Amino acid sequence: MPADRSRAGRSPEASTPAEAHCARFADLDRASLDPVHFSGPPERCDARGKPIAGQRFFGDCEFPGQGGWGYACPACIADLGLRFGWGQGQLYRRTDEAEPRWRMVAGFPPADTSG
Ligand SMILES: [Zn+2]
Repeated sequence: MPADRSRAGRSPEASTPAEAHCARFADLDRASLDPVHFSGPPERCDARGKPIAGQRFFGDCEFPGQGGWGYACPACIADLGLRFGWGQGQLYRRTDEAEPRWRMVAGFPPADTSG
């Protein structure tokens, strides 16, 4: 009778399969080196209108085949197969601060080799 269904194995990074999908892209070490925060967080996913506020991640991405950029919630990032990279899209993760911010965790700009 396996009554002990502990949540210990669940990563705080991901409470849904879509968030787990996003978490695979996230480079938190790189993100913390030189934190970049999204100012003025988007209200809604541009793909299906889902509110961004309660999400763990959102993307500011190119929508393949649609020739445009928009905001995407984790479910749409997973469903549409959105990608992150310079020129492709940026992934932001909500921080754990009392007043959460959205920190870029994927799709970083190319390294600055000029200096
Ligand atoms: Zn969406």
